[in-house]
Amino acid sequence: MVGESKRVGVMGGTFDPIHHGHLVTAEAALWAFRLDEVLFVPTGQPWMKADREVTPAEHRYLMTVIATASNPRFSVSRLEVDRRGPTFTVETLQELRRQAEDDIELFFITGADAMLEIFHWKDPEEVLSQAHFIAATRPGYDIARFEQEAPSRHPNVSVLDVPALAISSTDIRRRVREGEPIRYLVPEGVETYIRKVGLYQDQG
Ligand code: ATP
Ligand code: MG
Repeated sequence: MVGESKRVGVMGGTFDPIHHGHLVTAEAALWAFRLDEVLFVPTGQPWMKADREVTPAEHRYLMTVIATASNPRFSVSRLEVDRRGPTFTVETLQELRRQAEDDIELFFITGADAMLEIFHWKDPEEVLSQAHFIAATRPGYDIARFEQEAPSRHPNVSVLDVPALAISSTDIRRRVREGEPIRYLVPEGVETYIRKVGLYQDQG
């Protein structure tokens, strides 16, 4: 459309593994903010998350591709996967803007938990100037606390109500390790991939 910029949602995450909580959140944001597409951006390697080793980026990237393949409005970026060292959201957003052929409007989608972390980083104003932020509700995380601690009244931040799915990658990894089912928590293809490669078998 002439004169209208493309509305692009950006969903960052470790996706270790991607699950239906991520997908439902992305779809809700797509609909609520009339986005043209959502770009999933798996984080790069190497860095430690909560004292555990993160699964190699290539596996996390492939699972994200498998999970999003059937949605014509979802795609996956290798931007952070291919970049060495830690990546920062600000740099990623700047890079996406540089790479875009047309004018784009960026919407960064996160759960309320991840959004709080962003506001505890240095220079939140700089991050906030780069995109519109969508903070999705997430079971187990108090949105009221979020409203108190984060500048949710900031013109660039919106809270999005998402059908509650108490699913986390941490719980899925534990389930695989302990032999509990993960069916219906992750897309079928993702479960198949986890079994095929033997992910999450022996992590403490
Ligand atoms: P982990 O348990 O390893 O931290 P996770 O389930 O939190 O994994 P991440 O890859 O850390 O998944 O999350 C990526 C983004 O998706 C974050 O912004 C997070 O807040 C959001 N998110 C994850 N699960 C949900 C969910 N069930 N509902 C809403 N948002 C979610
Ligand atoms: Mg998380």
